[in-house]
Amino acid sequence: SGPEMARRVADLAVDVRDFPQPGIVFKDLTPLFASGPDFAATIDAIVEHYGADSFDVVAGIEARGFMIASAVAYAAGVGVVPVRKVGKLPRKTLRETYALEYGEATLELHTDSFTPGQRVLVVDDVLATGGTAEASLSLVEQAGGVVTGFTVLLELAFLEGRKRLKPRTVHALLTV
Ligand code: AMP
Repeated sequence: SGPEMARRVADLAVDVRDFPQPGIVFKDLTPLFASGPDFAATIDAIVEHYGADSFDVVAGIEARGFMIASAVAYAAGVGVVPVRKVGKLPRKTLRETYALEYGEATLELHTDSFTPGQRVLVVDDVLATGGTAEASLSLVEQAGGVVTGFTVLLELAFLEGRKRLKPRTVHALLTV
């Protein structure tokens, strides 16, 4: 159930103060990934929320999004596509550059990642300001995919990423 999944994520997320820089409280979800029953419940909850028939492929955002996306794709019997940091994908790509708190970042997606109209579920571990998600969703749409949804394990509500992604909807197992 929703409340039970939220509790699992809350129990297993570790707050790491001042990482990767002073003032940031990093939400470390590696203990959740490392626990077989909790990881399985997490993946099942995502697939159940959307329904395995509602998406044709899963896109994962580098790097922690890859772990979740692969498992969701396998559970739903569909494929997985990587949204990567610049310079990693070998063929023709689309690129999006966005502002971070300090500096900027660029994400890439292979131009031919999707067949036109393919329904894509986009996955990451944490939603913070939404910059990463916004760039990723834009790349998916530019590549001809139709975004079914964007899902994270944990949403940091005070950073208002959800607002930034409107009118698209966000699903989070836990919102803090
Ligand atoms: P943002 O673009 O601000 O939404 O940041 C999202 C990306 O950075 C995601 O890929 C997250 O994994 C990571 N991230 C940002 N802030 C945090 C945080 N406080 N704890 C863990 N991961 C974070």
